[in-house]
Amino acid sequence: MSEPKKSHLTLWICGAIVAAIGSALVFPHLAVKFHVGGEIFLRLLRMIVVPLVVTSVMSGILGLGDVRKLGRPGGAALLYYLTTTVLAVFVGLMVVNLIQPGMGTVDEASLAAVKAESDTNSPKARLLMALTDATGLSKEEIGGVFEEFSPGPQESPTIGTILKNLLLMLFTDNLFAAAANTSLLPLILFSIVFACMLTTMGSRVSHLSAMIEQINDALMRFVLLIMRISPLGIFCLVAARFGQAQAEGKLLDLVNQTGWYVLTVVFGLGIHACCILPLIYWCFTRKNPFRFILQMSQALLTAFSTASSSATLPVTMECAIDRAGVSERSVKFVLPLGATINMDGTALYEAVAALFIAQATGYDLSLLQQLVIAVTATLAAIGAAGIPEAGLVTMIIVLNAVGLPVEYIGLVLSVDWLVDRFRTAVNIYGDCVGAVVVERVS
Ligand code: ASP
Repeated sequence: MSEPKKSHLTLWICGAIVAAIGSALVFPHLAVKFHVGGEIFLRLLRMIVVPLVVTSVMSGILGLGDVRKLGRPGGAALLYYLTTTVLAVFVGLMVVNLIQPGMGTVDEASLAAVKAESDTNSPKARLLMALTDATGLSKEEIGGVFEEFSPGPQESPTIGTILKNLLLMLFTDNLFAAAANTSLLPLILFSIVFACMLTTMGSRVSHLSAMIEQINDALMRFVLLIMRISPLGIFCLVAARFGQAQAEGKLLDLVNQTGWYVLTVVFGLGIHACCILPLIYWCFTRKNPFRFILQMSQALLTAFSTASSSATLPVTMECAIDRAGVSERSVKFVLPLGATINMDGTALYEAVAALFIAQATGYDLSLLQQLVIAVTATLAAIGAAGIPEAGLVTMIIVLNAVGLPVEYIGLVLSVDWLVDRFRTAVNIYGDCVGAVVVERVS
């Protein structure tokens, strides 16, 4: 199979996104019909995520040769994830306090409408359903994190409860169920342990080890094939989603009440993606960070179009190895883990959204409460799955922690599909910089 012309592909994808948004604005009802094409593209990507993650993590560890060599990159990755996520939250808190998008932008009538909607349509039930889908946890387990949903007396969940539930997300009692739900964390954990075992078994398992590497190589080839049709898939995805928003009149919300909120999130994401992450990249590599953004552009545009870190993962890995030249060892280990637990964009958005809701509903949050928001937004981002709008669901942790009414999530609901695209692109970019940092450190 010949290599696709990669720089041309980026131009094609950019053109596809512009054309899709344009046609969605002019012919929304026609644009919605491209949904099928978008869904096929998305399914092709999602189809290979589980086998790709399992074989990549395993072959990454097999490539290390010795389990003990995992300590340094593993520690570096975790430290990087935590540091950048916390930095992102602080950028979010800074911009939302500076711009104050919720002050005087949401009128009483809209607040009452959101409240009435929550009373009749039970958004909690909808959110709970989305949450069980996203995390693979049972409703009871989620009730443990989000007291709001539990049948018992209502109490704010403690940080301990949240941590306990995050820890539980690492383990599964059924590997196949985890694979079927694309719950990547338990699969990654299993793959690490399994590959570590293989490295201790010598020549007895050499065929199996070679097979794992070969399957991984073949899957990466498959990703190249999918990327060839990505301009078309991305056109369909974006046209259908923007067309639907235009047809439902949701784009109007952008110029009405939530415009400032969206601008604040995008501004904060811009600071994180164009200043903080490039600075970290430069500190570790002394190379031009904006060239790196260009090299990763196909992954970033795919993230914008799919709003899913997990679905974008195959493209991210391909770009990082093939275009940016990041070492396979680092990519195969850092990116799958990062796609699930390292979400800078999501953390930043959670902080902004929580404060926006507080400002709009007249809650005055003290500095201490804002610190609680910083801690819980970090945990909520770690707990969010790499699927569309997962961050919206885990934001309940943040709202609960400072006693903000969960039903006012309705205020940001109508534009979340759009905000999600920007934050997912930043999530992916954060993962890629992480892969480079870990490569340098180890
Ligand atoms: N859609 C995001 C992702 O996949 C998660 C979120 O913030 O909703 O990375």
